[in-house]
Amino acid sequence: MRIVLLGAPGAGKGTLAKDLVGLFNVPHISTGDMFREAVASGSELGRQVQNILSSGKLVPDEIVNRLVRERISKPDCKDGFILDGYPRTVQQARTLDEMLTAMGQKLDAVLYLKVSEDVVVERLTNRRVCPRCGRIYNLLSMPPKSDEICDDCGTKLIQRDDDREEVVRNRFKVYNEMTAPLIDYYKKKGTLIEIDAEADHQITVRKTVEALKKVIT
Ligand code: ADP
Ligand code: ZN
Repeated sequence: MRIVLLGAPGAGKGTLAKDLVGLFNVPHISTGDMFREAVASGSELGRQVQNILSSGKLVPDEIVNRLVRERISKPDCKDGFILDGYPRTVQQARTLDEMLTAMGQKLDAVLYLKVSEDVVVERLTNRRVCPRCGRIYNLLSMPPKSDEICDDCGTKLIQRDDDREEVVRNRFKVYNEMTAPLIDYYKKKGTLIEIDAEADHQITVRKTVEALKKVIT
């Protein structure tokens, strides 16, 4: 099963991806996570993208495309993957199409998580992540049991640099300009599935699974 998750920053792509991994047993490929790991490890790639990430701008297409090409060629992707945060520009979407065609594969579905900007800004500025295990919380809707401490591993939660309000607004601007055109791109191809992602997360998961069952019969 080959899926792309599309949606504004904070639409819930990462959280949904983790649920789908549990259900469908394919790897979750988040380009944002890959870049953050590269920054944390201080690698060459990390040094290249560090400033881009903290300003909320996009990493150049050729860097992202190369990273994804290598990742989806690995053996654990032979039965599929969940792409989260890629493609993010029309050029990336075209490149992905080419990569898949060359591999004799195609996307089963593009899940478009639809949310309004106000909802998302509130979500993101309240988002906290566990730096050790990666679990995602929301101080309003999905708070940890004890104050800003991870339920699973006891680590102090952190706020991502780019979840500060001014950066969130900028990520939105970039999304509207560069990524929103992909909604039409995939609509024309007939692979787009629209999901209202403003409701409770469990409802979003249920709707998504129902929609996916129809395409992967
Ligand atoms: P979001 O929560 O905004 O969806 P991500 O975790 O997916 O954020 O990505 C964080 C940052 O990593 C982005 O703001 C961007 O700088 C970079 N990035 C991730 N994926 C891509 C991509 N496909 N193209 C360009 N830049 C990317
Ligand atoms: Zn944790």
